[in-house]
Amino acid sequence: MIEKRGNVTKIGDLRPTQEERFERQMDMAFKAHPYYIEIFKKMGLTRGDIKCLDDLTKLPLTYKEDWIARPDDFRLDMSQISWATREDKILWEIIFTAGSTSAPTPFYDTSYDHYARISQLKRTAEIAGITPEDTVINLFPLTSVPHQGYLSALYGSQAVGAKLVSGYGGSFDGGFGLIRRSIESIKMIEKQHGTVLWGIGFFLRRLIMAAQDMGADFSSVSLVMPMGEGCPAGMREDIRRRMATLGAKDVRVLNGYGFTEMHGPSMECKELKGFHLPKPARYFFEFLDPNTLQPMPAGEPGLVVMTHLDRRGTCLLRYVVGDICRLSYEACPECGRWEPRFDIIPYRTGGIIKVKGTLVNVSALYDILSSIDEIEEYEIIVTQIDPSDPSTKGGARCGSTGTGGNT
Ligand SMILES: [Zn+2]
Repeated sequence: MIEKRGNVTKIGDLRPTQEERFERQMDMAFKAHPYYIEIFKKMGLTRGDIKCLDDLTKLPLTYKEDWIARPDDFRLDMSQISWATREDKILWEIIFTAGSTSAPTPFYDTSYDHYARISQLKRTAEIAGITPEDTVINLFPLTSVPHQGYLSALYGSQAVGAKLVSGYGGSFDGGFGLIRRSIESIKMIEKQHGTVLWGIGFFLRRLIMAAQDMGADFSSVSLVMPMGEGCPAGMREDIRRRMATLGAKDVRVLNGYGFTEMHGPSMECKELKGFHLPKPARYFFEFLDPNTLQPMPAGEPGLVVMTHLDRRGTCLLRYVVGDICRLSYEACPECGRWEPRFDIIPYRTGGIIKVKGTLVNVSALYDILSSIDEIEEYEIIVTQIDPSDPSTKGGARCGSTGTGGNT
């Protein structure tokens, strides 16, 4: 089967390629997706009812709860697809969601998905400006289940042709003697003349602080990529100041926005200038009013809903990511790339709480709190001042440690 893979090179090609892939994805879903076959039957939908992406709204939304309740039913049974190749069928890898609010959920990649993942992460690394001249230090930890972050730094760096060194931090060692302490990772960065530090935001920051205590030499580093959480301007300046004391001048601090279900992060080309989709033809995004679940006017922020267009393993249609954001389809004024960008800082819908009947967007406080030098970490708690007085009832406790929370 001949198909279009990496040849979407301009915005004009995007929608036609998305439509083409959507058609094939829906052929697969109607034949081989246990969960959606059940939904199609329940809704009385036939293949002919879903002709193009505009017809997607005929399908109900898929919530994370739907997926995590029965993840195996979201895996395409490629043995039902006549044209499927070995690469379409073979299970290559299982990645797990972080599981901060639930048990880790398996996300299945076939060999085809694995290649797609690597090509996407290559693009992600390129957007961040990583080149074969770089030495990337993968500071994501070794974990008991495979997580997205570690694989991003691993595959992205390898595919670009950069040198790659892995920190192998972590909490579980199992007697294998693999886990390195921070002090060892810091010495490794010095010895290998690392140019890129890529890892979880709060961990990177603490590693840099430990390096300051040691008086380490990080003068080779030019790029820090704190991931897995938001990275407001204040946190970036903090990292830059600390890196300067380690000899690293004019360090760029780039953040990503992504989730396991999207193979990896969308990536900044420049600080706070939006997150480029590395492979936009593999996904289709809708932005819905969080209250009515109807489409927002074009360009308005809304509930992010993602549909896979090119999957063989786990496949999600109209999947509610849980964040509020928007996409800009304008060429990037910073780097000129055409790939659409999430051009506002995404925030969790859980960041909106009701206080005395008023909806308050707590995430708006992230930027303010993180820009205050004296604050290193914070937690926001809304409580009832007088338990006997209902008018002081504040609502749910809304905890947020760290300096952001967009993933
Ligand atoms: Zn750009």
